[in-house]
Amino acid sequence: MSLSRRSILKGAATTAALSVAPMIMGASHGKPKVVVVGGGAGGATVARYLAKDSKGALDVTLIEPTRTYFSCFFSNLYLGGFRTLESLGHTYGKLASEYGINVVHDWAVGVDRDKKTVSLAGGASLPYDRLVLSPGIDFVDGSVPGWDLSHQNRMPHAYKGGSQTELLKAQVEAMRPGGVFAMVAPPNPYRCPPGPYERVSMVAHMLKENNPKAKILIFDPKKKFSKQGLFQAGWENSYPGMIDWLDSEFTGALEEVRPHSMELVVGGEVTKADVVNVIPAMKAGRIAELAAITNDKGWAPVVPATLQSREDENIHVLGDSAHQGDMPKSGFSANSQAKVAANAIRGALTGSKVFPAKFANTCWSLIGTNNGVKVGAAYEATAEKIAKTSGFISQNGEDAALRKQTYEESIGWYAGISKDMFG
Ligand SMILES: Cc1cc2nc3c(=O)[nH]c(=O)nc-3n(C[C@H](O)[C@H](O)[C@H](O)COP(=O)(O)OP(=O)(O)OC[C@H]3O[C@@H](n4cnc5c(N)ncnc54)[C@H](O)[C@@H]3O)c2cc1C
Repeated sequence: MSLSRRSILKGAATTAALSVAPMIMGASHGKPKVVVVGGGAGGATVARYLAKDSKGALDVTLIEPTRTYFSCFFSNLYLGGFRTLESLGHTYGKLASEYGINVVHDWAVGVDRDKKTVSLAGGASLPYDRLVLSPGIDFVDGSVPGWDLSHQNRMPHAYKGGSQTELLKAQVEAMRPGGVFAMVAPPNPYRCPPGPYERVSMVAHMLKENNPKAKILIFDPKKKFSKQGLFQAGWENSYPGMIDWLDSEFTGALEEVRPHSMELVVGGEVTKADVVNVIPAMKAGRIAELAAITNDKGWAPVVPATLQSREDENIHVLGDSAHQGDMPKSGFSANSQAKVAANAIRGALTGSKVFPAKFANTCWSLIGTNNGVKVGAAYEATAEKIAKTSGFISQNGEDAALRKQTYEESIGWYAGISKDMFG
């Protein structure tokens, strides 16, 4: 092919792409439009199920700023050396190519509920018949005195996936021999109730191998935490003398962190640490607040059977941002809620059959090599909330084979949920 012909064809391809782009971005196709904000556990799942099950009857757009989603689930296993970071990264190509979802890499920065449009940082405005918000969490400003987002490189939260997790791991690896890892644990409610404590287990696992005289201190505003008995027994067995869980009744309140001197002021005493993992109080992702559908605690109340916002029936809220009742803020929960919401949205927009809402969750945690524990429950929608109907939890004293089997189950779950989200 001659250069001039190639450049003409290249020019034609560019022109075609440009003339198609504005149509994809919002002009009417005559199909009902669903816009999904957030390509995580809730958003990617709901987009995929809407596109897959409607077989082209719905026009589905997914807005997500990042091109690779690094899951928070299993990020602790990366800290412990059981997973690579790459294995936690997922891209959106299949959602576009196999399911026909219009994937837009941008930030949603506003919702006009009267006009039913979402505005993007890049300037576009997308119309919707139904909007789904699954933006995860943001942090409550001022909840840890002395800390704000400008300090996240000094004192990482690692509560959003990717670079923060990488940073925290690098900091732990660089700790001086016998150094101190301090965690500021979050108050309820927060994303992944066992997450901070699984993280401590994984940091302890890494330190036991490389820095066995190091200490871990957990400053906790709560009086108890998820799977407490299982974690504390596991720590005693696997990491004796390394971990101190300090609740505020014992130590007094956390008064301040000082990122520049790596100090924590707790109950009037100053503690110096080598690594400080600050996990602040949380609220719904900011876009839910901008849509004016959050309550005074910063979460978005929803109708349990459909995940519709209590403020606006054209908006559904999934996952961590939703104030829904008994389900923990987990990836499993977000994925489970997404399927219920997809079914309700499809029913409303295409007249398809709507099945009764059923939800499930299991949270696995790894304490040490092949030492997995779990807690889980089933739920159903009542008028008031998503209500727990039954549950289960691992027991202390289980044999090694059962703990290994529980860990292996979690590996299967990770593979399954990743496929369920991204195809
Ligand atoms: C350390 C840790 C360990 C965890 N372990 C587990 C586990 O083992 N099992 C489990 O089930 N859960 C676990 N979780 C919890 C799980 O990660 C979350 O509950 C889950 O990701 C919530 O899904 P979501 O869809 O609400 O939010 P996310 O999965 O966080 O997705 C939100 C997405 O929205 C995007 N977004 C935000 N704002 C905007 C905007 N304005 N415009 C466009 N896009 C936006 C973000 O970029 C993000 O990709 C863990 C969490 C942590 C921190």
